[in-house]
Amino acid sequence: MATVAEMREKLRRPLAAELAAGCGDRVVAGGVERLLASPLAGPFPGVREVLRGYAELDGVARAEALGRALELLDGQEKAAKAPRPARTIKQAVPAAAPGERLPPDAEVGRLDTGPGGARKLQSLGLHTLRDVLHAYPHRHEDRRALPDLDAVEEGLKVTVEGRVTSKSRRTPKPGMLILEVTLETPAGGRVRASWFNQPWIERQLKEGARLVLTGRVKKFGRSVQLAVEHLETVEDAKGSLSTGRIVGVYDSKDGISQEFLRKAAHRTLQAVPLDDYLPAHWRRKYRVTDLGDALWGIHFPADEEQLSRANHRLRFDEYLFLELRMLLQGEDAVLQGKRFQATGSDISTFEDALPFRFTNAQRRVLLEITDDMRAERQMARLVQGDVGSGKTAVAACALYLAVRDGYQGALMAPTEILARQHFENLVGYMAKLDVRVGYLVGAMTPKAKLEMQTRIAEGEVDVVVGTQALIQENVRFDNLGLAVVDEEHRFGVMQRRKLLAGRPDVLVMSATPIPRSLALTAYGDLELSIIDELPPGRTPVETKLIQDTHRQQAYGFVMRQIREGRQAFVVTALIEENENLELLAATQLADDLRVILPEARIELLHGKMSAAEKEHIMERFRSRAFDILVSTTVIEVGVDVPNASVMVIENAERFGLSQLHQLRGRVGRGSAQSYCLLIAGEHSKKTRQRLKIIEGSTDGFVIAEADLKLRGPGEIRGTRQSGVPDLRLGDLANDTEIIEQARELAKHILAHDPKLEHPRLQYLKGELQSRSHSVAFREVI
Ligand code: ADP
Ligand code: MG
Repeated sequence: MATVAEMREKLRRPLAAELAAGCGDRVVAGGVERLLASPLAGPFPGVREVLRGYAELDGVARAEALGRALELLDGQEKAAKAPRPARTIKQAVPAAAPGERLPPDAEVGRLDTGPGGARKLQSLGLHTLRDVLHAYPHRHEDRRALPDLDAVEEGLKVTVEGRVTSKSRRTPKPGMLILEVTLETPAGGRVRASWFNQPWIERQLKEGARLVLTGRVKKFGRSVQLAVEHLETVEDAKGSLSTGRIVGVYDSKDGISQEFLRKAAHRTLQAVPLDDYLPAHWRRKYRVTDLGDALWGIHFPADEEQLSRANHRLRFDEYLFLELRMLLQGEDAVLQGKRFQATGSDISTFEDALPFRFTNAQRRVLLEITDDMRAERQMARLVQGDVGSGKTAVAACALYLAVRDGYQGALMAPTEILARQHFENLVGYMAKLDVRVGYLVGAMTPKAKLEMQTRIAEGEVDVVVGTQALIQENVRFDNLGLAVVDEEHRFGVMQRRKLLAGRPDVLVMSATPIPRSLALTAYGDLELSIIDELPPGRTPVETKLIQDTHRQQAYGFVMRQIREGRQAFVVTALIEENENLELLAATQLADDLRVILPEARIELLHGKMSAAEKEHIMERFRSRAFDILVSTTVIEVGVDVPNASVMVIENAERFGLSQLHQLRGRVGRGSAQSYCLLIAGEHSKKTRQRLKIIEGSTDGFVIAEADLKLRGPGEIRGTRQSGVPDLRLGDLANDTEIIEQARELAKHILAHDPKLEHPRLQYLKGELQSRSHSVAFREVI
């Protein structure tokens, strides 16, 4: 027997769907009244009452009745969940009288949006009037009435105005009703408009009535037909927000109509004074329109020009706030740094000691770096390049140059495993060059740590590789000249600042391929160098997408590779936002594999292990002590196991494309053929489309662009607090110019007024604070 709550839900869903589908009484099998007659509606006599005679009602009355029914159902649910306190303590805030002005921070409840209006807005995440103002339509529909449809192509959605000259009503089959009218347009053309099974429309279809209709065009020879989606009379259409104009289409959900959202936006625009936070001279300089024009224009554009002005201004603002946020959080703008010689002969010496020659891309980036190193100001450069593109080798060269000029260098990695690997690489590169390389991580014994700290302080090591242990209190460099930070996005801004205290030049390495326009924004003040070429001789990894129903075959393939002496990674996604569950899933997977592949030696690596345990397992894997490393995503960055030739990714659909690309980069480091098997559980079309991108490309930048298009930019840098682009209109792939202008203005503003204290900037500051999601950030200004 179903509980009342279950019954309520079973009743609520079809009713909400019916409302969303336009009240045609077609959603519920057998009709709404049949549903109400069922035992399901038994516990809800009030709902039965308001929906009585539903089939006979016209569209408007149906919508109202459904709205009330849903309110009743929701109301009961609330009452059941949270018993009302005997006395309400909070005083109701009076709704704004028409014509009253409200501040943008006012709650939506202050706005008169009809019964339940505030609740609907809140359910869409819109709590203040500012939220409503900035909840822009996700698209616009041109519903300006055309004089005629003769020239219009079949399949387009258009709006037309005209007078009803004839009308018919047919029931070709029982239960099917077709209403049809012929409309004479102002230009004298004829359009046939039809409605299927919408009897309540009939009332409005009188001969001589003047209507504005929106629908899709069908053409039969010379006759033009319109399948109508929206109808208003010419009188109603006069002040209408929903027809006769370019109308916005908003993000919504079941039971919240576009008409309602348009009305809410309209009321808000009328109630809130749209004082511009950008002074007029800046608006002129950057050729952006004023805020009022922009906000009205995005919600209710008078024409295409206003819409495009609005779009431009609001995008500009998004980037401006983003840049201001980045700059306010980041380091001070331009500082004096170290000045190196970085001679050409030192570069040659370094390269000659390598077992390979630099690629052209590495050479170009090295030139960009040495230009910075030779300059007076502090270098702040991001070197971006795909996994294995040779960033570390370039950074090692820069470190060598710093050492040759008498400075110390540091390389900080996000994990101990990575620090270890960098350390070994650097020792390899510099062994012949008489450079003393040190190592400092948290897991060392206190004695070993102290010893290393002393050597660092006394200048007895030239380059130190380590983790965050490098920036702890008791680490003092004798003469730090260059700091290299790997995978910067894993470190907080504060940590970065500590490393910068001695004003060394700074090089950041990131393997996350970020499209240029986004990198500029996400990394604020860092200059960007890109290594866009892999060293020669790498065989691209062969990638295959596999349904989880074919897992056996995938692991059969893994076993064949193992028999040939190779090793395999098996990575599983974070299934829940919960480390324990993740660990459980990985453990389970390892156990399953031990059953499926009894011959293979299998071990597990997960995030709950101590750094030393992880290190130990990685070391054993590298030395081929076992065949398959089952792991949670902890191995995502950087680890080198040259003998591993297969990367299996379970639940591949749960990863972002860039993340998959990173994981795949763990294999294929040598010249032997390597493989990546993506096992996907879920197989929606969109998932397949996404994973196909990885299957088809090994170019990190292509993948990152595609990922950006499919996922939106917010997820690239991870968290909100790091000033992630929170863009509604911005299109990073195409906005480079606006981004640069916004940066210029942001820099200009802060150069003159670093804390935004000038009275003229108070609006701007207020807007910046209220649009910022991060509490920590609000404290910065
Ligand atoms: P990244 O830091 O971008 O992941 P690394 O600098 O660690 O890349 O290089 C990956 C591997 O390729 C290392 O083993 C490195 O020695 C090697 N390597 C780097 N540059 C070249 C090159 N120009 N030619 C051949 N091998 C290279
Ligand atoms: Mg690397």
